[in-house]
Amino acid sequence: MKKKIEKLFSNLCCSQCRNGFDEDSIVIKREEDGLLVIGLECRHCGKNFGVAFLGISNVDLKNYEPLEVTEGPEPINYDDVIDAHNFIKNLNDDWSKYLPLEQNPRDSR
Ligand SMILES: [Zn+2]
Repeated sequence: MKKKIEKLFSNLCCSQCRNGFDEDSIVIKREEDGLLVIGLECRHCGKNFGVAFLGISNVDLKNYEPLEVTEGPEPINYDDVIDAHNFIKNLNDDWSKYLPLEQNPRDSR
């Protein structure tokens, strides 16, 4: 599974040191039915990109676009993922109820 995930990040690079991600950069934190929570950390400079939620159905990962990835020289923007990391530390068995709320993390009014 990690090999497949690695491919999803293979065309990206660290926004800090510009090194690419490899299999060891990915940590599977939770694996649920239809949802995978992974952590991403640069193995070269140690920069932590927080966590990413991958929605997985019966579709093979090779056909799946998990993140909004900008093609070109711009580094990845993981701000939203880091927002998610701020609450995932306290997750328990009903953690999935937080997912819909996280779609508007900046709406604090
Ligand atoms: Zn780095």
